[in-house]
This record gives sequence, C-alpha cells and structure tokens, in this order.
Amino acid sequence: MNLEIFYNRLPEKLKHILSQLFKLGKEMNIKLYLVGGPVRDLILNREVLDLDLVVNRDLEVLLERLREEFSFKIEPTRFLTAKVYFDDFILDIAETRKEYYPLPGALPEVSPGTLKSDAYRRDFTINALYLEITTNGFSKLIDYVGGVKDLQKKIIRVLKRNSFYEDPTRIIRAVRYEQRFGFKMETGTLSLLKKAVKENVFSTVTPQRLGAEFIRTLREKNVFNPLRRLDELCGFDFLNVSIKLTSEKISSFKRWDSYKYKRDVLCPEIIPLMILLSDLELLELDRISQILELTRAQRSLLKKYVRLDKEKILSLLSKKLSVSKIYDRLNNLDFEIVVCLHLLAKGQARRNLDLYLKKLVGLRLEVTGEDVKNLGIAQGPQIGHLLERLKKARLEGKVKTREDEIRYIKKLGDVDRVSGN
Ligand code: ATP
Repeated sequence: MNLEIFYNRLPEKLKHILSQLFKLGKEMNIKLYLVGGPVRDLILNREVLDLDLVVNRDLEVLLERLREEFSFKIEPTRFLTAKVYFDDFILDIAETRKEYYPLPGALPEVSPGTLKSDAYRRDFTINALYLEITTNGFSKLIDYVGGVKDLQKKIIRVLKRNSFYEDPTRIIRAVRYEQRFGFKMETGTLSLLKKAVKENVFSTVTPQRLGAEFIRTLREKNVFNPLRRLDELCGFDFLNVSIKLTSEKISSFKRWDSYKYKRDVLCPEIIPLMILLSDLELLELDRISQILELTRAQRSLLKKYVRLDKEKILSLLSKKLSVSKIYDRLNNLDFEIVVCLHLLAKGQARRNLDLYLKKLVGLRLEVTGEDVKNLGIAQGPQIGHLLERLKKARLEGKVKTREDEIRYIKKLGDVDRVSGN
C-alpha cells in the first residue's frame, strides 16, 4: 500500500490539522492514528470529509495543550473521547479503548486499552483500520482484523459472533455500508444478522439509538437501496410496526435519489421521512417523531403532509394549467411538501409541478421586505401579501427587473390604500 498516495488524497486543510496535532503529540510522546471511516475512505479513494483520530495515551493532557496553544474549543463527549473545533472544522478524537458489554444492547463500559483492543471493539473489519500519523504523512497502516482484504473483496464482516447482540444498531450500520459501497455482507455475518433479527434483538436497545442510526441512513446520497435492503432483512418494526414500503413509496425514493432539486432542500433527510411515513396515523407519527427526536419544524412538515389530501391536489393538477393557476394551487404549501408531491406525481400533474418548481427554485425577488417598507407601506401582514403577489407576477413574467418590481409594488400599494385593504 502506498501511504503517500493516501496522504495526498487528503484535503490541504486536513493535512494541516494533522501536522499541527502530530507536532504537539510528538513533544509529549503521544502517538496519533487516523482511524475508521477516513482510513476506509482513503483506501477506497472516496472523499474524506471528517477526521477520526485516536491517541495511544494521555488524551486529557493533549487536549489541555491544544486548549493552551490554539485556544480551540474542546468538548468532552463520552468517556475518553472529545470533539475539537478547529475554526469551522470538527474533529473527533479519542484515547484507545476497550469495551465491555454488561448486557446485550446496553451501552458498553469503557476503559483505556491497547490499539489492538480498540480495533476489536469496532463494528466491522473495514472500519477497524489505522494509519499512524507522522511529519507530513503516514508511517504505517495497521490492520489487526483483515480489513484491507475485506475492502478489496468488497465485504462487510463483523469482528465477533455476538456483535449484533452487543449492539443491534450495527444491523442498520451494516446495511448502510453495504449499500453505500455496493459491497456484500460476508456469509457468516449475514447469517448472524438474520439470526439476531429473528431473535428480536432490537428489543434490547432503546428506540432512540436505533432511530439515530436510521436517520443517518436517510441522509445517504441514495436511500432507495438501503431502505429496500432494511425492508428485506428486518423491516421497520424497530421504529414502528405500521411502516411499510409500498410500491408508490419505492418509486418516490428512486426519483429522490437522483432528484434535481435535492440541494434546495435544507434538511435532506426530511423528504425520505415524509415519503416513508406519509400513510401513518397522526398518533403513530407523534410516537415516531419522539423516537427520532425531530425538531418542531420537521414534526410540523410530517403532520401537514400526512393530513394533506394528496390525491385531490394531484387530480386538480392533472390538466394543462397556466403558471399562475398552478401557483394558486400550490403557493400555500411548504416547499418540502411540493417536492414530495412532485416525486409522487405522474403525467400532466408531474409536468405542472416541474414547471412550478423550475420557475420557483430560480426565483429570487430583487426587492426585500425592507424595500417595501421604504415605499411607505406600513409594517404588518400586508408586506407579506404584497411580496406574494409580486412573486406571482414574476412567475407570470409580468415583472422582470428590480425597477419593474418597485413599480408593481407601488401600484399594488396604491390600489390597496384606495380600496382600504
Ligand atoms: P460514516 O462514513 O457513515 O460517517 P464512519 O465510519 O465515520 O462512517 P461513525 O459512525 O462516525 O462512522 O463512527 C466512527 C467509527 O467508530 C466507525 O468507523 C467505527 O469504527 C466506530 N463505530 C461507530 N459506531 C459503532 C458501533 N455501533 N459499534 C462499534 N463501532 C462503532
């Protein structure tokens, strides 16, 4: 393995962080290793965005020095682990640990351990590789568990027979990695996983921990494959028994995976979640929202989408309409809801939604609420109404420039004043 190639694959900024840490570690005789996801991704030649590091001893002392020298914010997380905030970059750093699971599914008891014991507490062989850090490079690739061979063979393999019992969230993780990388589960691992599911291993762990791992799956670039695989291996009962993968949802997920407005959705996991839960009872939705620890805004979107008469809206959109008519039908819906409808729609309704989104996504008004106020229109709901009407005029092509917009607002403002609106 050419370690220089791996090092050169790292973005400059991450190299810089590693070299600063290395210098500091060296003064204190502390060894530093890159571990887990980033090592795996460097070998697979995939983009590395996070750094996960371990040190062989004295994490506390190293963190103290980091605080003194660079005044970085440091946040201890669990025992022997911390997050370090390098300006806008967050680094996870831990001391080599060993773990003991007092009960299946319980959180482990953690104590300092050797690098080897640190490797054996991990989920899969491909996530248990280490690159020792040196001046401007890596000095060694350390593989206690055959992770490199498994990466080459494209397989996901657990490190212990009872791995899925110790921590059932690894079932969801295994599916995520398998589908993200296009790997296969090693035969023994797959049998162990199926056995654990059959023996209802999910019941030993809190739904919140399973939910957190599940949400990470929904943030994947492609969600259809992992969801289909979860459905095949264990279903979604670990979240709620009412969740089913219908053919309608499947086609929405497939479209979402290559959706052109994905980047316009601020919180990407909400769309697959809205699709998956679209046919649930509101009471169930409340339970799941709690398990997944969703924000108020997310809960509200889910509820609105469940309540929405989707068939009715799609049928209203199923004939050829002008942009302004489409706007009238959709403009009071949240953007995320329009996206879900677009993923669901077929035929003319899809074409109408295409048109609406094409116009809407690129649509930025030139004037702001402040400009409207400066035109003498009193603060209050009227400003919002005027901006809405302006948007519609923009969609219809009646106004094009900032000057047009100002003229239009003035005209509307005058009309409203006269009519007493
Ligand atoms: P991703 O690319 O999805 O972020 P990652 O490998 O960086 O993947 P994290 O969940 O950030 O995954 O975890 C970092 C590392 O910690 C993993 O690579 C793995 O070695 C270890 N790990 C995480 N979760 C578990 C677990 N449930 N059981 C054992 N080891 C785990």
